[in-house]
Amino acid sequence: MSCHESCYVTHLEAAIDGTKLPHNKIQTLHEGRPLWVRYDLEAIKKDVTPAIIFQREPTLWRYRELLPLPQGAMPVSLGEGMTPMLPATKLGKMLGTPHLWIKDESQLPTGSFKSRGLCMAITMAHHFGVKRVAIPTAGNAGGAMAAYAARAGMESYVFMPKDTPVINQAECALAGAKTFLVNGLINDCGAIVKNGIEKMNWFDLSTLKEPYRIEGKKTMGLELAEQFGYDLPDVIVYPTGGGTGLIGMWKAFNELRALGWLQTDTMPKMVAVQSDGCAPIPRAFDAGQRFATPWENAATCASGLRVPGAVGDFMILDAIKESGGYAVAVEENKIVPAMQHAVRTEGISICPEAAACTLAIEKLTADNRIKKSDRVVLFNTGAANKYLEAIPRNLPTIEDPTAIDYENL
Ligand SMILES: *Cc1c(COP(=O)(O)O)cnc(C)c1O
Repeated sequence: MSCHESCYVTHLEAAIDGTKLPHNKIQTLHEGRPLWVRYDLEAIKKDVTPAIIFQREPTLWRYRELLPLPQGAMPVSLGEGMTPMLPATKLGKMLGTPHLWIKDESQLPTGSFKSRGLCMAITMAHHFGVKRVAIPTAGNAGGAMAAYAARAGMESYVFMPKDTPVINQAECALAGAKTFLVNGLINDCGAIVKNGIEKMNWFDLSTLKEPYRIEGKKTMGLELAEQFGYDLPDVIVYPTGGGTGLIGMWKAFNELRALGWLQTDTMPKMVAVQSDGCAPIPRAFDAGQRFATPWENAATCASGLRVPGAVGDFMILDAIKESGGYAVAVEENKIVPAMQHAVRTEGISICPEAAACTLAIEKLTADNRIKKSDRVVLFNTGAANKYLEAIPRNLPTIEDPTAIDYENL
């Protein structure tokens, strides 16, 4: 059964120039740039409503009509989605924005929101008969790919910088991915994957180099909208690396608007956050550019933000601009203290990338770009416990458990 007969996808569309490409076979880039998946939204509107979706199982597959997998086909699934939208009023007040929610993606399979994108990418690759996949990764994408590839019975290869968090190294190896530590950055890993396509006959799952990861990440926007009763918040603060999440959410909101499901005409301001140790997107945003110059000597403990050059840079910058949002760089040396502070305040397993977002909110409330009355959603994209090396833990040892000096604990 080919997709065009059985799902709502109409075609793929090159983001750079609008060229239409068929969706019934595997596709990668067009002119070196990413593809959008386009749907017959009129048909979807006739066949499904928010009330129908509301009654379905709480996984991202509840949005099946807005996803690329043909209706009868089986997803490769680990039970991903939906994640909680947690009020974080205490932390919000401290940051100057009392109406704060945290969308807690740390609770997803493999402990990060990467499972949304890789679930979809692997599901589609599997659907098209791919047997071997490869990925360059800053950490969490590799872990997610390894897990879904194992689930699908595919052979997988992971290339990561040699200083990638050790949990990411371990989770890839554990799930059976052939895992390599590379003396270089993620772009060097990307080149290894690209150059190996012919010799190794693997499918390249790099960020945005195939069209379906965006569709998986899009479900963050669909869930958020549903959790807000289709009345979207005012500001969304998102830690940005390759940008799939931000791009995907913006696509989700536009599709929901076209479906007529939104209860509001106002779209949220999209805020992209990076560390000043690797901030190509804020730099391009401040200079008013549509394409970002690659960042030199990228370094940050928030490994998911360590993407010196993104193929979807213009898609990120377009979304920020269309939404009236911002791109913000925060101070690298404040990220770990901000992480400790956030976890202590709310008990949520905040990763360094999301901690950077708390610093960005502080900046934006200080100069009133975020107003006190704004409803703000911060994305916690991963679990703190994946960042063992970054977490300060100089703990005292009790040598003699029978002789504790309680007064000095
Ligand atoms: C990959 C990653 C990011 C960046 O996500 P993009 O959608 O690629 O911009 C942010 N946080 C964490 C924890 C990540 O793993």
